[in-house]
Amino acid sequence: MATIDLQALRDNFALAQSLAPDSQTMPMVKANAYGHGMVEVAQALAEQAPAYGVACIEEALELRDAGICQPILLLEGTFSADEVNTAALKGFWLMVENHPQKDAIINADIAQPVNVWLGIDSGMHRLGFLPEEVPEVYRSLSDSRNVNDQIVVASHFACAEDFDSDFTAQQLTTFDKTVADFDSIKTSLANSASILGRPDTHRDWNRPGYMIYGASPFAQAQENGDRLKPVMTLSSAVISLRSISAGEKVGYSGKWCAERPSTIATIGIGYGDGYPRTAPKGTPVLVNGIECPLVGSVSMDMITVDVTDLEGVTIGDPVELWGNQLPVNRVAEHCATLGYELLTRMPLRVPRVYK
Ligand SMILES: *Cc1c(COP(=O)(O)O)cnc(C)c1O
Repeated sequence: MATIDLQALRDNFALAQSLAPDSQTMPMVKANAYGHGMVEVAQALAEQAPAYGVACIEEALELRDAGICQPILLLEGTFSADEVNTAALKGFWLMVENHPQKDAIINADIAQPVNVWLGIDSGMHRLGFLPEEVPEVYRSLSDSRNVNDQIVVASHFACAEDFDSDFTAQQLTTFDKTVADFDSIKTSLANSASILGRPDTHRDWNRPGYMIYGASPFAQAQENGDRLKPVMTLSSAVISLRSISAGEKVGYSGKWCAERPSTIATIGIGYGDGYPRTAPKGTPVLVNGIECPLVGSVSMDMITVDVTDLEGVTIGDPVELWGNQLPVNRVAEHCATLGYELLTRMPLRVPRVYK
């Protein structure tokens, strides 16, 4: 079960706003709101959020169909020309990252103009126009009657969570140089890490994702990152208990072997429920609020935990896999991935309980 704490979500969003009082703060709800349930998250933020960010038009349509009436930015723009018509009808904002997307907007036969965000490649080399292309692209968009007046120029940081890297400063310089000649444009740069840690990147629009779900993008302690409240708590329960002798093995392929007489608790959660199969032995699992090591391989519906050092465990006892008492980042570290991935890949099989 994934318990989703909507008050924590609102508090984290309010923190993003308060750290950047001169910016508008647009929550990123793509990928099912990083696994938390897109519609529920958008509804919970409806009073605070001026707009939302999603990856594709299917997500935007789902929000509209659920009654969300704010603007919705398609972060990767359109994938085909007909999406421009839908976007115009539905009030979606379009990121423009390449020439085909730009041409599709300019050539569209639409009754009302669309709001456009122009993406610049300031160094991440994934999406966006090269700095030298920007003046020409900007001009052709602003000359088009299909485009609303206020174009937002945006870019994305590759290493914002890494304090040792000077790449963010380089991207910032490239961005500022590229937009220097435009009068009265709006701009957008900051993701969670730069909202939390780099006030110099705060612009007209900030785009927090991970932080509003209550996890810090930083690998180390950080004043603002440490104020976030986990939104998702993934929990289960002990469903079986047994004592085994030293030398006995546990789980598929007998990967783990007891070095001492051990008590093994079986927990009702597995990779079919979004718990990573790559979690190695020793990954922390909270049984009755106490950290115990995962042992044996993760099954589809179950995991096994060594509770030898814990007194009085019984069937039905509560287990937390991550959340309130165990940061998802810690589990992710053991699995050589990011908390981003663990949250986002949470399958629909797991019931979300909103509180
Ligand atoms: C997902 C995304 C964000 C949010 O990033 P976080 O690190 O989760 O805050 C911001 N901007 C763009 C363009 C994105 O795709």
